[in-house]
Amino acid sequence: MKKLKTSWGIFVLVLVLITSILACTTHGGGRGVTETADVIVIGAGGAGFAAAMAAHQGGSSVILLESMNRPGGNTMIAGGAFQSVNPTLQSQLAMTDAHRAAIMALVNKPPHDNFERDLQQTVRKQLEEFTAANRPGLFDSVEWHALQSYNAGDYIGTPELVMTLTSNLPPTREWMTTNGMQWSTNPNINVRIFTVLGGLWQRSNRPEMPLGTGFIDMGVRYVEANSDRITLHLETRATEFIVENGRVTGVRATGPGGDRNFMATRGVVLATGGFGANVEMRQRYNDMGNPPLWGPGLRNALSTNHPGTTGDGIMMAESIGANLVGMEWIQMLPMGDPRTGSLSGNIEMGVEDRFFVNKNGDRFMDEGGRRDYMTNALLAQPDSWMWVICDAQSYPDPVNNRNNFGETIVQLVEAGRAFQADTIEELARLIDVPPANLRRAVDEFNAGVAAGTDRFGRSLWRIRIDQPPFYAGARIPTVHHTMGGVEINNNAQVINTAGRVIPGLFAAGEVTGGIHGTNRVGGNALADIFVFGRIAGTNAAAVR
Ligand code: ADP
Repeated sequence: MKKLKTSWGIFVLVLVLITSILACTTHGGGRGVTETADVIVIGAGGAGFAAAMAAHQGGSSVILLESMNRPGGNTMIAGGAFQSVNPTLQSQLAMTDAHRAAIMALVNKPPHDNFERDLQQTVRKQLEEFTAANRPGLFDSVEWHALQSYNAGDYIGTPELVMTLTSNLPPTREWMTTNGMQWSTNPNINVRIFTVLGGLWQRSNRPEMPLGTGFIDMGVRYVEANSDRITLHLETRATEFIVENGRVTGVRATGPGGDRNFMATRGVVLATGGFGANVEMRQRYNDMGNPPLWGPGLRNALSTNHPGTTGDGIMMAESIGANLVGMEWIQMLPMGDPRTGSLSGNIEMGVEDRFFVNKNGDRFMDEGGRRDYMTNALLAQPDSWMWVICDAQSYPDPVNNRNNFGETIVQLVEAGRAFQADTIEELARLIDVPPANLRRAVDEFNAGVAAGTDRFGRSLWRIRIDQPPFYAGARIPTVHHTMGGVEINNNAQVINTAGRVIPGLFAAGEVTGGIHGTNRVGGNALADIFVFGRIAGTNAAAVR
């Protein structure tokens, strides 16, 4: 009788267990435990945090999934430049004839299409008004930003997305500030708003904290302050979407607690970043280019990316029918550390105030140009190696002025990662380039400052390089960003291969394609992830 009772007890226990497991998985029909929130966000980089914050502000509970053991992604180790029109700071900058000539060159070129023609007309009118009103500072507008971005991406970017990006930047910057983002308070205005490499215009807003840490710090603090409604799961890697009747309702993920289903009552936001660290994937897509953008050397190139930039989200979305766009456009920068490929150790403080020489001590490009142009120019030099040259004016306070990585020039010189000399000739000997050539390059740069242009057509200049000490730092090409990804519309909804919205699925950030075309403008990545992350989060929260 006792034995029978025990067997009956075990039977009931097993029944209860089976029932509760079934109850947990009824939504997705998958395996494992189920957690539910209004909005599920995949990827805790800049786009993911922006989406989580916006969704929360839209009244949603949020679960944020991150595959790595810390949040941040590529955003955390980005250079930190946030490209956005900023009339307050830009009114304190200088507008030169070279700036004016650069605008006129673009507004007067034959338009590629109606979108470019409309932008040209608007910018021409804005510049006329700016001039007539004798306004102080550097001219800028969201249309000028759009025109530069569209042109620099060879008109492959989608006009609506380009315009959504640039026109939403000033309000998004304000939104970020309201939510705790700290921008640089450096007394030098040229530090607070600068021209990042390949940024083409002095509109890069600099954060107070080094790299992209300030952007992630904002997100982490927001999540902590709202932990009753937002849950961050680290080491939790999304593996596939849960789709019910054509609608994305959740995602399967694997992590410390085993496999789990995360169900969304409103929407799922994909924010998993690009695929720059996935060597096979980037090579495969590069080789599909017609012709390929980069040669076979891409395979062995170093990268600025963190290891979690695997392209997971792109593959997951593709497997449920999402359309992929621009996958062959992979961005390399001429600004990698020769040992690691990272952006650390960079001695430039702004495009205007430095130039580059090759191992012969010769200049070889417009150092204010597009990133793809500059990287190609560098690849054509001996050993694909260059030196960044600048002077004391880049470091009014050499002990405290820090590059985007929080490094001072004093630290870099002490570590042997940069060189310092009191004369150009001595600097040339330290970096082993012919002194007469480096002298000629400096003279050429200074003549360019006076003339506002040079034989390469450079248009971004500020002051002469003539104040000792002089500095040099080595740089090589490095893989930085993948422009292609999941197609989205203006509402950050994912589009399928038939051109229709995939219900329930939104995407933002480097996982998406179609915004930057063939070549992303410097500083437009942090801009993109916060604008579209915010849009995605807002719209996912609005689903009813
Ligand atoms: P973005 O700049 O678009 O925000 P980031 O690279 O900064 O992109 O952030 C993307 C984040 O997504 C990274 O932290 C990365 O580790 C994370 N991630 C990538 N794949 C997955 C995945 N399958 N599941 C969860 N998180 C992922």
